[in-house]
Amino acid sequence: MSFIQLRQLTKQYKQAEQPAVDHIELEIEKGEIITLLGPSGCGKTTTLRMIAGFEQPTSGVINIGGSEVFGEKTYVPPEKREIGMVFQDYALFPHLTIEKNVVFGLNKWSTREKKARAKEVLELVGLAEYGKRYPNELSGGQQQRVALARALAPRPHVVLMDEPFSNLDAGLRERMRYDVTSILRKANTTAIIVTHDQKDAFAVSDRVVVMNQGVIQQIATPRDMYRCPKNCFVAQFVGKTNLLTGTLCSDLKHVDTYIGRVSLPTQSEKIIEDVRVSIRPEGCRLAENGRYSGKVERVTYSGEYQEVEVRLGERDLSSEPMVVYAPVEQEIEIGAVISFDIKPELVALVEV
Ligand code: ATP
Repeated sequence: MSFIQLRQLTKQYKQAEQPAVDHIELEIEKGEIITLLGPSGCGKTTTLRMIAGFEQPTSGVINIGGSEVFGEKTYVPPEKREIGMVFQDYALFPHLTIEKNVVFGLNKWSTREKKARAKEVLELVGLAEYGKRYPNELSGGQQQRVALARALAPRPHVVLMDEPFSNLDAGLRERMRYDVTSILRKANTTAIIVTHDQKDAFAVSDRVVVMNQGVIQQIATPRDMYRCPKNCFVAQFVGKTNLLTGTLCSDLKHVDTYIGRVSLPTQSEKIIEDVRVSIRPEGCRLAENGRYSGKVERVTYSGEYQEVEVRLGERDLSSEPMVVYAPVEQEIEIGAVISFDIKPELVALVEV
């Protein structure tokens, strides 16, 4: 049995027409780091709050660490669920020292045990020297590590983190993605992180759960999610892509689209005639006599690559041109005709 299970978990707010969370099913293994990823309003925070016990589900079952904490006849209150919570704004107590913040939840522990545990978790988060300071004497990243130390102190079954990186600027954000994951790994803690940022999700998780309108769209490792998005929503939400309508060829390995025949990485398991293909921009490689060619409409320089919009003909799904990435050293002029090949590994058949 998995360590955490959500079974048909649903939340219907009284005032709302649609459920905020709609019969979701999720199994999480011990020590796994999972992110709930999706646009604003997709139900990720509601899901996290139901797991924590702050929000009462309308129906469904929640199991944590082998026991049912919510079900038809079960309700375990938040403080008895053995959950560590890290809030978006860290919610540290400003009038307490870092050490006192960290041991705040350890009511039943002796003073000696508290001291030892504070030392242990502050060492774990790299703040052993900061126990006597107050929260306002620490940087944003340090405050977040204190919040994580406090969540970990009682040795919870699971740590829940709500948008942990959103208050940090870009440079620190990258650093904290690394720090948070390595702390969670060292503590061998199961964690569920809510974010709307794909880069955060990919950088920190073993598996990503993409949600939209209260429904789970796909559960996969970052690599599988990117390479094999299940549907158009996921393909567009995780990274950039070109979505083309097409017809599956009888060999089930190619799709005919308006830009020509596109190869799939593997044979399709389903026989559907009208399909959609997702082609990642970095899967399109400029080549002198490439298979596909078109006129350059726009070039955007990002420093790492150039995003080139190419018009190959009239498009059926939308009027957008194809987006391909080109190396920065290549000079590309607007109006020029360029040609490229497509790597099948970055092509995927997707559901509508
Ligand atoms: P965000 O990233 O903006 O926080 P989210 O994915 O976390 O979004 P939720 O906060 O879980 O989304 O909200 C899901 C849906 O439920 C939204 O449509 C929201 O308006 C609605 N909702 C959330 N809380 C309540 C509430 N207390 N009463 C009524 N509707 C609510």
